[in-house]
Amino acid sequence: MHLIRLCGKNIAVDCGIGFDKSDEIQKQYVPDGNWLNGTRIDLIILTHKHLDHVGALVRLVHHHPEALIFMSAKTFEGARIAIEDSLNIWRKEAENARRNGLPIPEPIFTEEMADAFYNNPNLKVFDAPYWLDPQEDLRGQWPGWEMGFYDAGHDVGAVSTYMLLPNGKYFYLTGDVASHDQENARGVLLPPDNFLGDFFDRPGTMVTEATNGDRRMEKPREQLVEEIGQFAREVDARGGVLLDAVFAGTKAGNDMVMFNNLGYKVVVDGLARDHIRVEVPDIEERLKDGRVFFIEEGKSKDKKELAWKQRAEYVAGLHGFVPIIAPSATLDQGFAASAYAPVILEGEKNAAVFTSHIFDDSTTQRLFNVKRGRTIKMKKFVNGRLEPIRVNVRCDIRHFNRSSHDYQDGLVERVRLARPETLIVHHCPGKESFNAFAERVHSLPPPPKKPIWGLNGRKIFI
Ligand SMILES: [Zn+2]
Repeated sequence: MHLIRLCGKNIAVDCGIGFDKSDEIQKQYVPDGNWLNGTRIDLIILTHKHLDHVGALVRLVHHHPEALIFMSAKTFEGARIAIEDSLNIWRKEAENARRNGLPIPEPIFTEEMADAFYNNPNLKVFDAPYWLDPQEDLRGQWPGWEMGFYDAGHDVGAVSTYMLLPNGKYFYLTGDVASHDQENARGVLLPPDNFLGDFFDRPGTMVTEATNGDRRMEKPREQLVEEIGQFAREVDARGGVLLDAVFAGTKAGNDMVMFNNLGYKVVVDGLARDHIRVEVPDIEERLKDGRVFFIEEGKSKDKKELAWKQRAEYVAGLHGFVPIIAPSATLDQGFAASAYAPVILEGEKNAAVFTSHIFDDSTTQRLFNVKRGRTIKMKKFVNGRLEPIRVNVRCDIRHFNRSSHDYQDGLVERVRLARPETLIVHHCPGKESFNAFAERVHSLPPPPKKPIWGLNGRKIFI
């Protein structure tokens, strides 16, 4: 989350959650600042649906009935899936605590708050590209402001924000951004002139993410896809089963389309299905013609049993070679962890691929550090309950980093084109990353002022 005070207005951008994994329990944490209580918030912008941006938004909105709220329609749909999933996870945790006589955990937000958010009269969703209407959208309360949103390329519905201020300057927030194409989102460096006009022909401030601030794109994305295809063909040839453990949003949909493009049918399980329905426009066609199969759990006992029978069939390779896409990429939760990995990892002919960033302290990281033939701890569904087990890792594992974030070259090129007077860098994993990025930016002709690192809790005056 960040709070921007500009020309008399207070604008909050995103409000996510973080995960702190110590021991067995995964704890969530929320942004500092006590929900900005005591501060009038004029506007809340949600840049995209990922949990580190939207996870606590419902609560922030609850504390600020005065705020206008803007997001794209696709972001709203995706956020709704993430919000409902958070509530489901909380319900299960509460039920577990109750059963074990432990104190019931406090949810970050309640069902009532979520419903109030969906029906908030101040909420405006739009299809990007979109310039706000000063009368209708800003209610005539923002004289001298113009505000527009354009695709950020990071995810379906993700946007960058372009503000022209009453003081004659610009304010440009990239949000999470990517200039390289993904299967379901076209890369964007900057919008075309018919959107931008003379936007950058004035001094201004740019706030950019720099997740990959110190990383160059190692190889073109087409080559990466080619290598994944080669790997899949090897697993197929030896009669193995391939698990693709992914994050439900963005990555699952990209990988599904990628495997289809490589000529493979795909089976998809868990929350990934819901996100894919929002992200992949022709998903119904793919389901109909059999390129994609969704395992549908449903509520009834019969449906549940059928789903588990189908899982067992795909894990046993009874339908031929069909890559299995299931969340989550960390292997700490979701069907990938509880239903697929415990079986697939033990088969010598099998393989697991990971196409996302590998997080510290995740089961996936431990998997890459363990020698073949050794065991790792996981949790498996046994008779409807999660039981701790040890899994003997015998299969092939491979990491292909298909980042949804811009690499260093794209990030630097965007700064070169925007020529900001002030550059603020955030969403940046560490000092090395920031320094590497800052050094590249400094080599631009003419060198801009030293970039400012937007560390948590820092107040920056411009
Ligand atoms: Zn993101």
